[in-house]
Amino acid sequence: MEKLNAIWNDNCQIDPAALAQGQKPFAAILSCADARVDPSWIFASGSGELFQVRSAGNTAFNDAIASMEYAVSVLGTPLLLVMGHSACGAVKAAMASNPLTPLLEDLVQPIRASIKPGEGLEAVIKGNVRAAASTLVAKSAVLRGAVERGKLTIRGAYFDIGSGQVSWL
Ligand SMILES: [Zn+2]
Repeated sequence: MEKLNAIWNDNCQIDPAALAQGQKPFAAILSCADARVDPSWIFASGSGELFQVRSAGNTAFNDAIASMEYAVSVLGTPLLLVMGHSACGAVKAAMASNPLTPLLEDLVQPIRASIKPGEGLEAVIKGNVRAAASTLVAKSAVLRGAVERGKLTIRGAYFDIGSGQVSWL
């Protein structure tokens, strides 16, 4: 336990005593659950700096939207990033015709709905990011209002696993 405490203290970029008082993340990120896509690592951030919502395929499901409403309205987070990534397995599953479990079908349904005819994997991944960003403001009056008042910026991004590069969409 003592060793774990030392690791925590050594690795917090923000004073642990300050973290205990509350969080003030500079950005909220909706990203994929993929083990190669770790927003804290990608953006060199520590505990308390990024509010993260992750699920396979980075889809704006209602739970994700509600979490983002909390980040924006309660924590005052000024930037919301939707980040897709290269070789996304959830997007591949949405593009394939292999049978999935009922729950996985639910998961890929919004991705499938965003696919335009003839698109390749990277285009579908980027289209899915744009669709999720649109869904956030379409379904949430809180997020829409924050954008309209200039309190919130919503951006899409694409993370390339092989190069480590993040590009804005
Ligand atoms: Zn993915």
